Amino acid sequence: MSSKENTAELKPVSELNAAFHAKCPKCRKGDMFQKTPLGFLKQKMNTKCPYCNFQFEIEPGYFYVAMFVSYGMVVAEMVTLAIGTYILTSSESPWLYLGVLLGVALLLSPFNYRYSRVILLFWLTPNLHFDPKKAEKPFSEL
Ligand SMILES: [Zn+2]
Repeated sequence: MSSKENTAELKPVSELNAAFHAKCPKCRKGDMFQKTPLGFLKQKMNTKCPYCNFQFEIEPGYFYVAMFVSYGMVVAEMVTLAIGTYILTSSESPWLYLGVLLGVALLLSPFNYRYSRVILLFWLTPNLHFDPKKAEKPFSEL
């Protein structure tokens, strides 16, 4: 084995990189979401991390909390979008804003669904941290 491979294995994935790719917050290796043919449009979450066997839904109904995260994301997106639309068009027609905001809210819903859960698990869950020991070997080999 070359030394380059060694360093690649030892160096943990950065937290932001792991969150961006929706990896498990515990090992940063297993995927939180299953890979489906429709990709972002039809997402299904794994119940457990395929790499370290960490259960993503820490307690029953835990992802209800992600709704509040999602709500915050949508509010931030809509305010930004409304201001952006006003700056670009200076329109006063409520229909323009309604159309743009609803359209973009629909387009962004898969993104919000995915990242509300990622944000919840990575940064809003106390006592859930990256565990380098879990990243060493898949649970199936332990
Ligand atoms: Zn994991």
